[in-house]
Amino acid sequence: MTGTNKTPRQSMPEQNPQVRARNFEEVPLGYTPEMAVAEAGRCLQCKNPTCVQGCPVNVDIPGFIKHIAAGRFDQAIGKIWERNSLPAVCGRVCPQEIQCEGNCLLGRKGEPVAIGNLERFAADWERAHHVCELPSREKATGKKVAVVGSGPSSLTVAGDLVLKGHEVSLLEAFHKPGGVLVYGIPEFRLPKDIVASEVSCLGAQGVSIECDVVVGRTVTVEELFEQGFDAVYLGVGAGLPKFMNIPGENLVSVLSANEYLTRANLMKAYLFPEVDTPIPQGRHVVVLGGGNVAMDSARTAMRLGAEKVSIVYRRSRAEMPARGAEIHHAEEEGLNFELLVNPVRYLGNEKGRLTGMECVRMELGEPDASGRRRPVTVPGSEFILECDLAIVAIGSGANPLLTRSTPDLPLNKWGYITANAETGKTGKKAVWAGGDIVTGAATVILAMGAGRKAADSIHEYLTWGW
Ligand SMILES: Cc1cc2nc3c(=O)[nH]c(=O)nc-3n(C[C@H](O)[C@H](O)[C@H](O)COP(=O)(O)OP(=O)(O)OC[C@H]3O[C@@H](n4cnc5c(N)ncnc54)[C@H](O)[C@@H]3O)c2cc1C
Ligand code: SF4
Repeated sequence: MTGTNKTPRQSMPEQNPQVRARNFEEVPLGYTPEMAVAEAGRCLQCKNPTCVQGCPVNVDIPGFIKHIAAGRFDQAIGKIWERNSLPAVCGRVCPQEIQCEGNCLLGRKGEPVAIGNLERFAADWERAHHVCELPSREKATGKKVAVVGSGPSSLTVAGDLVLKGHEVSLLEAFHKPGGVLVYGIPEFRLPKDIVASEVSCLGAQGVSIECDVVVGRTVTVEELFEQGFDAVYLGVGAGLPKFMNIPGENLVSVLSANEYLTRANLMKAYLFPEVDTPIPQGRHVVVLGGGNVAMDSARTAMRLGAEKVSIVYRRSRAEMPARGAEIHHAEEEGLNFELLVNPVRYLGNEKGRLTGMECVRMELGEPDASGRRRPVTVPGSEFILECDLAIVAIGSGANPLLTRSTPDLPLNKWGYITANAETGKTGKKAVWAGGDIVTGAATVILAMGAGRKAADSIHEYLTWGW
């Protein structure tokens, strides 16, 4: 294969940037069947499909694309489901550009096949037509597994183990299942009904889903074993917000992206005036950070009515960790980028309300441990950025709530659970862990990949022992 397909990549239609910047409807509008067939026809059906090597759950990519090219959409989704139980989610939020599409042979000389768009098309087509039957369950084993958290890693574990005949209970602290997919990623990138629909498939397969259960408070891991569970999976994510620890952080209207997005998404502030969730409004909103969380917060603030939204990032655009497509969408929507800028203190008025931020300009020096060029302060470059709402999106860490109540669970020095990378086994018997609580904040598909490996290992344990 030479990778010489000359047909141009089908671009996905999108909402007009000026219109969408003020609504919460999804930005990309999806392929029509004709567009999907045309895009699928670009695939070279490589004998050694490098795209699959780039997929953390090894979806048979040429296999499902071949079905789309032939108009067999039902078989395409069946093929994806063999490896991925959340295709409508992954088709929308996976960093395809560095995974499957980043490895596509066509990308060497031109544009890679739009694998993510095709995955999304197949999943959306199935939701609209309901033609595929869910995979059938194996004979009941009588073994019980508690899966803590309901983000993508836990959903994958639950889905895999229920099919193998085990009794699975998903225990979620919030009042809705889905993890970051519901409380973090906004509606305009990942509509809530899509997550709900993919989660409801688990319910239909027999997974019991219990919300408002905070493991570590409502019940401990030890008590789960006493209740008769044979194995426990911990997929509790990394939801503890980080702050910059600079003066003025306690002013009213300085808040974490975690809180802001949870109020906007899970507590539905985005549905105002239908739902009246209190959420701080700003005229000039400043978001600190350069990752997906920062982009999501900034674009949400714009949609909630801010006059101006600035993203303050201490490196340059090239170092921004957010997905390229999301940075591009934010630019199109008119967000202001303050690059190579670092806040040093917040400023407030006599009522304790935020009025601005003192910032310094930065320049890039030598690469640091992360391989990115280290930002260095430009002396004498202080300036004031006026703002009335600041959202801190500079990362998150491990929440100690569960781990503190499980003292014999080995952790690393940052408080993340230590687990075997190939099996998810922790240092505590019959306890597995995976996703962000092991790796630190990462991606949906890596959390799912960890869940798949752990499910295989849990099944082996329930069959053969520790
Ligand atoms: C705003 C935002 C945008 C993102 N955008 C992208 C993106 O575009 N693409 C991408 O691939 N990744 C993205 N990510 C990262 C991705 O969402 C995470 O890597 C992924 O969700 C991690 O999955 P998880 O299953 O480990 O944990 P989570 O999704 O964090 O789920 C953990 C769940 O456990 C629950 N929980 C926590 N403690 C307890 C407890 N003690 N008892 C019971 N339940 C508990 C939590 O309430 C939560 O529901 C984004 C993250 C954020 C925050
Ligand atoms: S998606 Fe790309 S790498 Fe994968 S089989 Fe098709 S052309 Fe080859």
